[in-house]
Amino acid sequence: MKKIAILGSTGSIGTQTLEVVENNSDMQVTALAAGSNIALLENQIRRFHPSLACVWDPEKAAELRVAVHDLDVKVVSGMEGLLEAATEPQSEILVTAIVGMIGIRPTIAAMEAGKDIALANKETLVTAGHLIMPLSREKKVRILPVDSEHSAIFQCLQGNEGNPIHKILLTASGGPFRGWSRAQLAAVRPEDALKHPNWSMGRKITIDSSTMVNKGLEVMEAHWLFDVTIDQVEVVIQPQSVIHSMVEFADGAVMAQLGTPDMKLPIQYALCYPNRRDLPGARLDFAALGSITFEKPDPETFRGLGLALEAGRRGGTMPTVFNAANEYAVAKFLKKEIPYLTIVEMIEAAMSHHTVTEHPDVEQILAAERETEEYIRSAF
Ligand code: NAD
Ligand code: MG
Repeated sequence: MKKIAILGSTGSIGTQTLEVVENNSDMQVTALAAGSNIALLENQIRRFHPSLACVWDPEKAAELRVAVHDLDVKVVSGMEGLLEAATEPQSEILVTAIVGMIGIRPTIAAMEAGKDIALANKETLVTAGHLIMPLSREKKVRILPVDSEHSAIFQCLQGNEGNPIHKILLTASGGPFRGWSRAQLAAVRPEDALKHPNWSMGRKITIDSSTMVNKGLEVMEAHWLFDVTIDQVEVVIQPQSVIHSMVEFADGAVMAQLGTPDMKLPIQYALCYPNRRDLPGARLDFAALGSITFEKPDPETFRGLGLALEAGRRGGTMPTVFNAANEYAVAKFLKKEIPYLTIVEMIEAAMSHHTVTEHPDVEQILAAERETEEYIRSAF
């Protein structure tokens, strides 16, 4: 029995993880955590019988406690609750399907407790990769990528132990505004940016895909996961989202992983690694597809990508500032409080204002996050 805890069980990755669990009789859920959707969380508790459930909001947690009083489940809340869910004694692996750098402390706590991590929550690796990767070696726990590109890279590396990566070709769909000019972006509304051409995902990552900030975060994620420099990662636009990423080796050989855009594949691979299992769903039909095309990203329209590379090269607390500014700005944009182009302006202003701390610990990372928010509030 594979015992699995999930942070963010009511979201896009969380619900797809539970679909995978449903299709595999040897998987069992130990703990579930969600932000506020207690109706869905209650259904999940009744279906999957975890011994622990966490709701961020304490009032909602109290409501849920009443709703599930007939079941043998402990309901907790807040950061203490997230940490308890992340370290639930029975679980072997934690799926980090929570959104944002709020995942840092629970991810580290789970690793300290010896759990493997199926990592979807890229913001945690971007801001605390310099702590997480050495910790995974020290505690001998695996960080198994769930992000489709990183799962693709990880799959391409199987059987290539000892063969150094020459370059990573990180593919991107280009999002809904591929081919647009910067001027055209000025009038973009949340409902426009929330229409992703190929993937159905949570709101924050869908906005990040439209600005290509997501790809910037993924370059930093690849840097930590695969021990390559930022400049060894080349972003390639592949609009059909069929090639999920590629690795070029020293001899020029390029390995790629292809498939239909379905997050259940990387989720199941992370949970079953190194084994592959049946996965229901559509398969690639190359004749129907006809062609797979490639482009370079447009640095002028997607300035957030360039800022991410700059933050990644600078290191220290700069990736935290990049990420925290983006999290803050995207939340504001989704509430229609700022225009679309202000997202990148906020990131740029926060980065220029920041004085980097090298090798930050968790407290310093969280302090840099707070200072970034305070600075943006005062400057905009
Ligand atoms: P989502 O918004 O659909 O879901 C987020 C989940 O986190 C929800 O269950 C929500 O309740 C929970 N959550 C949020 N704040 C919380 C808090 N304070 N305490 C407890 N739970 C909280 O997001 P998503 O699209 O599933 O993305 C999750 C993570 O996976 C993100 O880091 C994203 O970048 C990454 N990711 C997502 C996809 C995708 O296809 N959706 C692909 C690759 C990577
Ligand atoms: Mg991705």
